[in-house]
Amino acid sequence: MSEKENTSLEKIVSLCKRRGFVFQGSEIYGGLAGTYDYGPYGNDLRHNIKQYFWQKFVLDREDVYGMSTAILMPRKVWDASGHTSEVGLNDPLVECKICHERVRADQQEVISDHEKTHKNKKVEWTEPVKFNLLVETKLGSSEKSSTEVNLRGEITQGVHVNFKNILDSMHPKLPFGIGQIGKAFRNEITPRDFLFRQREFEQMEIQYYIKPEETEGDRVYDYWKDEAFSWYLSLGFSKENLRWRQHASDELAHYAKDAWDIEYNTSFAGWKEAWGVHHRKDWDLKRHSQYSGVDLSYYDEEKKERFIPWDIECSGGVDRAVLFVLLEAYTEDVLSDEPRVYLKLKPSLAPIKVAVFPLLKNKPNLVTKARGVYQALKKEIPQVMWDDNGNIGKRYRRQDEIGTPFCVTVDFNTLTDETVTVRYRDNGLQDRLHINDLAAFLKEKLK
Ligand code: ATP
Repeated sequence: MSEKENTSLEKIVSLCKRRGFVFQGSEIYGGLAGTYDYGPYGNDLRHNIKQYFWQKFVLDREDVYGMSTAILMPRKVWDASGHTSEVGLNDPLVECKICHERVRADQQEVISDHEKTHKNKKVEWTEPVKFNLLVETKLGSSEKSSTEVNLRGEITQGVHVNFKNILDSMHPKLPFGIGQIGKAFRNEITPRDFLFRQREFEQMEIQYYIKPEETEGDRVYDYWKDEAFSWYLSLGFSKENLRWRQHASDELAHYAKDAWDIEYNTSFAGWKEAWGVHHRKDWDLKRHSQYSGVDLSYYDEEKKERFIPWDIECSGGVDRAVLFVLLEAYTEDVLSDEPRVYLKLKPSLAPIKVAVFPLLKNKPNLVTKARGVYQALKKEIPQVMWDDNGNIGKRYRRQDEIGTPFCVTVDFNTLTDETVTVRYRDNGLQDRLHINDLAAFLKEKLK
């Protein structure tokens, strides 16, 4: 019997620390709130998710170019994008009149959690005030000559400011997209919920440029909604744990034609945003044309006309995907009368694909044979791990907790008949296979 409903965030945080997935940022100095460091397995899981995104949305397509743009960008970029005060895209904050703590006015859950901390007192809040989430820093050799720049608050703008470079160097025809994966920084007032709301995080995005035409725009918008949803689902989620939510009119950015979020049903706080698909029309390119003074229009050779394209944006958080994948995969059950925890990760996302063990660590002939199996397998499947620590039961449990789908054990039979056991993570069952068939068998299962 497996139990998933009650997976608390603490269980995930604890597993992540215990098993080398994710640690609090700068932990030995007391931790820096809103930052996290990825350990070996978390780093590989995150890498696999990003690679999976890149494969589907960039490498497998002919109409999407990949880019990687700078994190540091001048303030003017953010004036143009509307992140600084003038067009009000920044977040409204309210302040608790008892303790003066500020929280985002749109985060009801944070507000009610805060109210609970004042026990029986009635909490009153100030009117919402706009607050700029952009992180600032200075560049330059001395205090006097330094210039203020921002760490990008979203990776989107790096793509829009390169629109002309892509036109001039790649000569694409509309429609086409630009994909990017990279870090973004936000001075979140209340970073919380582990990887969910951080101050430094990673995003993966496609900006898809189209002709400014209503019917075609709606069609392409629906197409990208479908693409985003089916990709997210394929990370291993069950359908009932994902849903669409349309932005209400008061939450929709004033320039946006439409915006929908994919939400995940978290066990710790209900439905939470995972991914956004936004119909941004010509807002970004038009504003960057105005603010930079550079013409960012596109010339349509067939129609002999010039216009600013529209943009359909698909934008998701990498770290949120890691967190949601972990929450979905975390499973407690009872195997051979013992309770266990395992990560039911999709094999292609698992950080380690196969672990190879000698049945006993102190039998040199078993160890030599197992090393041979390990080395041969590693040439075919790089994410293979050698494990001879503790007894076999402990090794299985350790591999279960990091989500390794297959464990291969070299035992005394191997020495005579060249067969090994392959043990499956999800049900603990085993098969016996000849060493020569092992790599092909596992590769097939890992597809
Ligand atoms: P939220 O409403 O949760 O603050 P948002 O609507 O501001 O998110 P976007 O600006 O649309 O988010 O960013 C795109 C994606 O980046 C989000 O769907 C989310 O997955 C991710 N993201 C945004 N802010 C954070 C954060 N502070 N920490 C981790 N991931 C984030």
